[in-house]
Amino acid sequence: MPKKKPISLRCPICRTLVLRTSEDFPFCSDRCRTIDLGKWASGGYVISSKINDPEELESIAEAQSRKQFDPDDDDISSRER
Ligand SMILES: [Zn+2]
Repeated sequence: MPKKKPISLRCPICRTLVLRTSEDFPFCSDRCRTIDLGKWASGGYVISSKINDPEELESIAEAQSRKQFDPDDDDISSRER
């Protein structure tokens, strides 16, 4: 059974207590909602933690360079089958 959700949360912008029934939940006001949107737009939030992992970035770059340097790789493997 899922746990009961809290009736209120703190506004992520100004830490004011906001009721779940509030029109602007989880923000205390339209102003804080706008500030939050602005943060997203300016890259203030990290959208994906994975992409910021250096190892993950390396493996992605590796996979991409492999595709570029071995364009016939798929043909070879299908021929072997
Ligand atoms: Zn607020």
